[in-house]
Formats: sequence, structure tokens, C-alpha cells
Amino acid sequence: MNLIDLTKQLLNRLTSNALPYKHRNACLGMVFTLIILLLVPDSESIVTEQQSTDPILEINNLAFSTSTFDPLNNIQEPPLENVLSVETEQEIIQSTRSIVEVRSGDNLSLIFDRAGLTPQDVYRVSNSGGDASILTRLYPGYSLAFDVNEERKLNELEVIISPLESYLFKLNEANKFDIARIEREPQLIPRYKEATINDSLFLAAQRGGISAAVTMEIAGIFGGVVDFMLDTRAGDSFNVLYDERHLDGEFIGNGSIQVAQYTNQGEDFTAIRYVNLNGDVDYYNLQGESMRKAFIRNPVDFTRISSNFTLSRRHPILNTIRAHKGTDYAAPNGTPVVAAGDGRITWASRNGSFGNLVVIQHGERFETKYAHLSSYARGVRVGSRVKQGDTIGYVGSTGGATGPHLHYEFLIDGSHRNPRTVHDQLPKAESVPDEEMDRFIQQSQILLTQLNTITSSPTLAQNTLPVNTRE
Ligand SMILES: [Zn+2]
Repeated sequence: MNLIDLTKQLLNRLTSNALPYKHRNACLGMVFTLIILLLVPDSESIVTEQQSTDPILEINNLAFSTSTFDPLNNIQEPPLENVLSVETEQEIIQSTRSIVEVRSGDNLSLIFDRAGLTPQDVYRVSNSGGDASILTRLYPGYSLAFDVNEERKLNELEVIISPLESYLFKLNEANKFDIARIEREPQLIPRYKEATINDSLFLAAQRGGISAAVTMEIAGIFGGVVDFMLDTRAGDSFNVLYDERHLDGEFIGNGSIQVAQYTNQGEDFTAIRYVNLNGDVDYYNLQGESMRKAFIRNPVDFTRISSNFTLSRRHPILNTIRAHKGTDYAAPNGTPVVAAGDGRITWASRNGSFGNLVVIQHGERFETKYAHLSSYARGVRVGSRVKQGDTIGYVGSTGGATGPHLHYEFLIDGSHRNPRTVHDQLPKAESVPDEEMDRFIQQSQILLTQLNTITSSPTLAQNTLPVNTRE
């Protein structure tokens, strides 16, 4: 059977759906590998090897090495090395390293068996004492690298937890295993990216070569001040300085965003990553305020709370049992009502028994409603942005109100929450403590200087370095 036939046969098995998922994956890997072999001109010798092997046996042998190999997202190199080592095992007699991935439901005996080792090997390795206990805590995603000599004797075993962490079992002269925990530090390489939005944040990021994970983080960092569903406008732009993690010259993943800027409809937002003296990480604006906005607990200076949030209350006018999905703040007519948080106005007009109603959307998850207003503040209309504390209207008794009060509602993900108690459940947005401000400013200056040096966008280039304004 030649290579083309083998490929065809494997493809048939794949398309027939006869194989379990894992084997299909393995099979896909094989097909991919074979196609590569077909394309490589000097694969003659490998073809000869291939003829003598049973493809099904091959698939079983390869299952462990190709189970995570996804030929459609060709991120990793196909495991040619493994393919060759399996094929040439009988011919090349010397110390070889083979890697076995831990599968779900695996145990040490099964893994050693797949590596061609014996229960005696399992016993010797697992009784090495100390850190050998790692062998009792093997999880899918780990892999074991075996170094076996010409007499099929295990010289070395590396339990690879991640590219950055492993345990090395090394045979010593006393024929026992010494165990060393190996921890490796990735090299952090700063990367700068910028993009201008024509359509959506994610499409812009994609064009700018920014990964989905980094984009998600950007959306999270600015989520308290920009609603990426509603507020993004063509011409908005952003830039980001983040770390890439490299090991032995190879990219292994993205690190943290150090600083990011977002210009939304002409307004600039800057987020600085800061690790405080307790080791807590958060993003802050240039004034050291958390990017995660808290909400004002009471959006009006009230005299008393005339009605609390309840899911069953007798309505004073309709005399029926109705839920009261908000808090009523009694206050004199004309008392200013303020926005509980930064956001965008999505409603500013009459709405039945609510009377004059203002609704503000805060980021993607939060919504606040302000009812029975006597009038609206200047500039308050659908689409306008408000900052926390901005006056949006004035207390009144429009709609179904019996006296002047503000009816205030707080919604998370579309469902009503008690505005009086929800605050304790909201993530805290603490500022940088006063005593750390100098440290924070110093670190922000370094980051912004770095950003100013790299950035090519003229609008984002003129960052004035922050100063401590709290002194
Ligand atoms: Zn009410």
C-alpha cells in the first residue's frame, strides 16, 4: 500500500464517522501528516517505512501525541517527530525521548505502558520519595517526557506541567531517581498595538492584529466608562501596551496589559495597570481612581425613604398587590437628581405611570431608572453621555406618584435589584490609597513615557505625564 492509498483509507475512515472522536482527531493528524509527507519531495525513506506498518496500529500509537493537534487551526507544528520516533523505534537503537500526554482517566501505569515501560518502572519512579508525589496528581494537559536508553532503561523522566513548570526525575549512580522542580521565567516582551474603529471594537482589534483575549481585556478595563455595544463610534481609537511571554525565543502567550488608552467620541480614557503594596492588581485612571466605577448609593439628596424595594406591595392608587421594583426617595419638588454612575442616556421622556423618566445604561450590565421627575436637566436626551454625579433631572410627582419623590430602579443584566442592598454586592472601585499615590504616579509616568515613544497616532501621542494632585 502506498502513501496515497493510506491517506485515502484514513480519509474514508474519517468521513464514515465510524471512529470515536479522539481517534478521529488522531486520524486527522495522521492525514495531515501524510499529506505533508506527500508534499515533501525527499520523503522516500519514510514512504518505505510506512509500507511495513499497519495504519490502525499507527493510529493507536499516535493517539496520545496527536489528540491536541488541530489541523484546522494549524497553530502547532504537526508532531512529525513523534511519528518518526514511533516508526523507527526498532531501527534506531539509542537513548530516545518520547512524550506522552496525560489523558482524562489516565493513571501512571497506563501512561508508562504507552511509553513502552513496565510496572517495575512505575514502581521505581513513584517510590523516589519527596516530590515523586507529583505522579499522584497528574491532570490532562500535563505531559510526561521519557528518556529511555538502548536497553529500554528509563534514564530520565520529566513531568511537564506547563512550559514554565516541570519536575525532572534523573537516574543517579546509586540507581535511584533524584527529583528537581524546574521553574522557568518567561521573557516579557512589550508589544504596542493601536487601532481605529470603523465598525466594532473586535473587528478593529482584529485588523490591528490584536488577539481576541487582549481585546476582551480592553473591553473589560474600559467597560465601566465606555459601553462598547452602544457608545463606540466610527473614528474612535485605542492603543495598548502589553506583554508577550516568550520562552526560548518562542511565543507562549500574552501577559498583562500595562497601559491602554481609548478615545471615545473625542474623550480620552487612560487605564494604567498598578499593583498595590498588598499585591492587588487593578486599572486606574491618571488620577489614581479605579476604572471599575462604583455607583452612587442614593442619586438624590432625600429627606426620607418613603418606600423600599419589595416584590409584593399594595399599590396606593390602584389598591392592588404589585411589586415595587425600586426605592422611593421623598424629597422636595425640584431637588436635583444625579446620575448614579457614568453612562449613556437611553430614555428621557414620559413613560406611563413612571411620568417623566430617565434611563441610563452603564456599561453592558447595569441600568438605572429615575421616575416621576418634574423636569429634565439641560442636555439630557437619548444618546447623551453622563458622568457620575451629573444632574439629570429634578424631583417631581409626574405619572402615578402621590407626592414628590424619586422612584429609582437598579438593574443588573436586565433584572431588578434592590438599589439599597445591591451596592454591597457590586465590585468595589477603590482608588489608589493616598500613601501610594507617589508610587503610582512614578510608575504611570514610566508607562506613559514608553507609550509616547512608541505611539504613531498623533491624537494619542500627546500624553502629559500625570502628577500627584492629591497633595
Ligand atoms: Zn416607587
